Amino acid sequence: MAAPELSDRIGRRIRAEGPLSLAAYMATALHDPEAGYYATRAPLGRAGDFTTAPEISQIFGELIGLCFADLWQRIGRPDPVNLVELGPGRGTLMADLLRAAASVPDFRGALRLHLVEASPVLRAEQQRRLSDAAPRFVGDLGEVPDGPLLLVANEFLDALPIRQFVRGAAHWAERLVGLDGDGRLAFVLGPGSPPAGLLVPQPLRDSPSGTVVEICPAASALVDSLAKRLTEAPGAALMVDYGYVPSAPGPTLAAIRAHHPADPLDRPGSADLSAHVDFQAVAEAACAAGAQVYGPVPQGQFLAALGAETRLAMLSRGADTERRQALAAGLGRLIEPGQMGTLFKAIAILSPGLPAPAGFAGPGVDNG
Ligand code: SAH
Repeated sequence: MAAPELSDRIGRRIRAEGPLSLAAYMATALHDPEAGYYATRAPLGRAGDFTTAPEISQIFGELIGLCFADLWQRIGRPDPVNLVELGPGRGTLMADLLRAAASVPDFRGALRLHLVEASPVLRAEQQRRLSDAAPRFVGDLGEVPDGPLLLVANEFLDALPIRQFVRGAAHWAERLVGLDGDGRLAFVLGPGSPPAGLLVPQPLRDSPSGTVVEICPAASALVDSLAKRLTEAPGAALMVDYGYVPSAPGPTLAAIRAHHPADPLDRPGSADLSAHVDFQAVAEAACAAGAQVYGPVPQGQFLAALGAETRLAMLSRGADTERRQALAAGLGRLIEPGQMGTLFKAIAILSPGLPAPAGFAGPGVDNG
């Protein structure tokens, strides 16, 4: 079994090099080529560990497809245009998006599909599902050719490695992954130091002793390079995830195995690890690099503004009762405030000067 072996390997590394940052631990647990969570399994769906909006309702990807067709018109109908998805999972969102895009044939014809996917297992599934669109697999955004860009990412940012800092009496210290007296993986604190505090978002630096704050340098770096591209060529990026705004104390790191919460340090590689997204940090990174930001808006509001109910009515026409109920229940899960409608949020990052995309016209949220 691979999982205990990865735990042993991490333990040996800690003995040799000292405690790991949580980001280094997360990256290994998720992406170790031999035993990492995403490297070794198909995590999505009922038989997997968690489910996502596109797996719950086809309306999610379809509405994003229509939203992108509209954005494409607004950026001057470029042909070709790079369509990029970060972390496409089983390819479901993209399949739904492309089907809806086909209602605007010039748009569909202009799309050149690029997928950023770390998992070989999921890449194979995406290739199978999306072969008609001839996807190109790329390691990161930097490998996507220059030019007009439409990018979508659902539940991608939450999978990026985070770091945690804990406020002590005088200073901030980084929470690290070390070993306890029995040699088991355990959280330990790095040395308290003034520089550690500089990594904590400015408004949170004066938090009381004991406060835990998370940062996600990988998300900031990704958004920075994305936003720079959007200042060089017209385009838009839509990111949907669970998270909060404004920046707030954590911790939110969580492990999930077979749809149940688990201990993040128990059997690394066998559970999904993720953290809530700090949408304020995302927005700030995008603005600092010169792009324009709309939202975040709650997912329920976003989907409703894109016409979710109309789409539901169209799909329900001619469907039998069981199918109609399933369609309505699926959309309900995505939109209801008590389910995914409020915790999940959508943010749009656009080339400067573009008006608010469909779905972002209303007021944003300033509280999670
Ligand atoms: N967007 C899909 C899947 C979400 S799960 C959906 O909504 O159903 C997270 C996805 O991101 C998976 O496809 C996972 O393999 C991928 N992923 C996670 N970290 C990644 C990284 N650093 N680089 C590329 N892909 C990554």
